[in-house]
Amino acid sequence: MSCVCTLEGKALIAVLIPRQILTDLCARAIPSQPTNETGGILLGFRKALGLQITNTTYAQCRDSASPSLFKRSKHGHSEIAAELWTRSRGTIDWVGEWHTHPNGIASPSHIDVRSWRFLVSQVDKPMVFIISNGKRVYVGLQEPTGSLVRKMTIQEMDGDSILFI
Ligand SMILES: [Zn+2]
Repeated sequence: MSCVCTLEGKALIAVLIPRQILTDLCARAIPSQPTNETGGILLGFRKALGLQITNTTYAQCRDSASPSLFKRSKHGHSEIAAELWTRSRGTIDWVGEWHTHPNGIASPSHIDVRSWRFLVSQVDKPMVFIISNGKRVYVGLQEPTGSLVRKMTIQEMDGDSILFI
């Protein structure tokens, strides 16, 4: 486990996300216009203080999507992740997932919460989950302990990145 900083005795993991990725994920959920959800995986570094997102994948041809659901296929995304893993000499890892709610609010549905908890219990490492509805972005951290996903808030911003805790 890679969390070392604590807040009131609680384990804490920070997530650093490039501004460009957040802007891009926002642009993919065209608001007030009925459209299908889309999504992908988040790739990045697992660091001592948290996760640093460096790359995303986008919808692949075997994914299925509707206005209220995005179901990622294993195919496509995992090949991209494996290639990055190799190219980065095993440092860029699968650290989370993102999807859009183009017709709803930027917060997780019951299905989202359940599927994130299940996924993280399988991976057995904390992961970050992003939802965008075109106007707002939700960033949540799911720990493998089975506790409820934790909504993260902005701690710091600079020109290039936004730090969530
Ligand atoms: Zn959702």
